[in-house]
Amino acid sequence: MFDDSYLASAQQNATIGRFLSGTRVAYFSMEIALHPKMHTYSGGLGVLAGDTARSAADLELPMVFVTLISRQGYLNQILDDSGWQHSEDDPWPVEEFGCPLRAKVAVPINGRQVWVQPWLHVLRSPIGHDVPVLLLDTDLPENDPRDRDITNQLYGGDSRYRLRQEIVLGIGGLRLLSALGFSDIQVYHLNEGHAALLALDLLRRYPRPADQVAELDLKYDVGRVRDMCIFTTHTPVEAGHDVFDYGLVGELLHDYIELDQLRLLGGQDQLNMTRLALTLSGFVNGVAQRHARTTRAMFPGFRIRALTNGVHSMTWAHPAFANLYNEHYPYWGLEPEALVQADQLPDEKIWQAHATARKDLIKLVAETSGVTLDPDRPIIGYARRMTSYKRPELLFTDLERLRDINRRYPFQIVLAGKAHHRDDEGKRHIQNILGHMKNLAPDIPVAFIPNYEATVASVLVPGVDVWLNTPVPPLEASGTSGMKAALNGVLNLSVMDGWWCEACLEGVTGWAIGEDPGEGPAQASAEDLYQKLEQAVLPMYHEDRAAWIAMMKQAISKIAPVFNTQRMMRRYASEAYMCTRYSEEHESE
Ligand SMILES: *Cc1c(COP(=O)(O)O)cnc(C)c1O
Repeated sequence: MFDDSYLASAQQNATIGRFLSGTRVAYFSMEIALHPKMHTYSGGLGVLAGDTARSAADLELPMVFVTLISRQGYLNQILDDSGWQHSEDDPWPVEEFGCPLRAKVAVPINGRQVWVQPWLHVLRSPIGHDVPVLLLDTDLPENDPRDRDITNQLYGGDSRYRLRQEIVLGIGGLRLLSALGFSDIQVYHLNEGHAALLALDLLRRYPRPADQVAELDLKYDVGRVRDMCIFTTHTPVEAGHDVFDYGLVGELLHDYIELDQLRLLGGQDQLNMTRLALTLSGFVNGVAQRHARTTRAMFPGFRIRALTNGVHSMTWAHPAFANLYNEHYPYWGLEPEALVQADQLPDEKIWQAHATARKDLIKLVAETSGVTLDPDRPIIGYARRMTSYKRPELLFTDLERLRDINRRYPFQIVLAGKAHHRDDEGKRHIQNILGHMKNLAPDIPVAFIPNYEATVASVLVPGVDVWLNTPVPPLEASGTSGMKAALNGVLNLSVMDGWWCEACLEGVTGWAIGEDPGEGPAQASAEDLYQKLEQAVLPMYHEDRAAWIAMMKQAISKIAPVFNTQRMMRRYASEAYMCTRYSEEHESE
């Protein structure tokens, strides 16, 4: 459950000293979901970072986490009468969750010194130890008013704002670790390309020895940096990478580094943060097998490994399932592998836990959207960032067809999701969905829960019967919400992409929509989705409850033991943090 169990006291939040020696790994992320009231995340990337931190604490890994304080959060979603999304700032009470530390460092931005101060938030595992999280803040009286808002809004503003944030995160974060006295850090883990400037700041510390052959014509000792940097990429599309014009880079960073040197590292035409991080990291990984293959094709010549994402089991199990697991497998939190035996749990226990999770969702839906769900119909759930490549409207392609299916096998739908501030297409999808809802009522109850975030996810995902996912392959790098679903016995109905390629056993752990396109361009269609609903999913729910519960148990026992952050962090610890030696060779497939 997403609750207060990982919160430390104010006093613990004030003292950094005990972490300074012995901490070996620094994990940098633009966003991190530590607690629902800390609005320092926007979606999947931040939830992954938060689950990573919780697992690091459970497993007693010697890590420190670095992120921006994002005082105004990401965005609060307001839907007007026409269904158009407007966004408000989403501030959070920083004083309740952290303490400012006395250290400050300056970073050069646009010819000015910008001071950066960290706040300390201590994440305390109830079964492990404490890990420190540093939240970087530029809202300081000594800063020029133009620089005070750099750490205000997550993913806000234009590319100039973004680059200033990335300078603070990468360069400011690295320098703060030194200023605070973290003396034993050996490895820097870049969660996505946003912190790539960290590796550049490291590079500046190591001029190439005179007798060393220049790699890429560099004046620096790039091997030294690669021995320290690990990069996890999350973006399978070129357009999704952070890129900056060198004009802007020169304007903001002046003579911080020679641009001809930077071009050798980050791309000739524009500074591509993914390329920069790839060039400067000794261990690089994608977040699912499919995603690693896609990344290899996009960036030939780099060795890209695959290390599939997970979710933090204790956080994402509904309390009813957590109680059931506690009763049967007392160690499941630390070792979710124990859930491999969940296929032996009694059917009634599974169904009871599910009924409790469902009741919580039906209540939340009534409170937040005014829609009354029918306790007897299966609930299809869909919630994620509203953006075109995730095809949030695929289910609504043919409303007559949906009504027709519903006459034979009644069902209902719950949706949620925010669009990014500047994604008008995403906002249009939300508006259209709200229109489809009106059209389908009252035959098919459909609810849209506003303002999707972690607390909503923790009720929505376990409370549905079927978790739907319809991205355009290969654009879903991994996806993690389906892992949360399976942990709670919710069956995935998903296009073959991201993590699902590794977890789907058709008719056993869930269902695929359409064929696996392999590396090809084929896309599952609305017709594929309707056929699967009509011929497999809904008939089983209505006509063979025992078979349905058998599948719930298969989903839990085959997915939860693998797709969790305890396994993921054990792999990062043993494969990445212990061994960052660079290798040019391609990974054999
Ligand atoms: C888990 C989670 C996500 C990630 O969902 P995807 O399946 O990767 O789209 C996004 N937002 C919230 C609030 C989550 O809890």
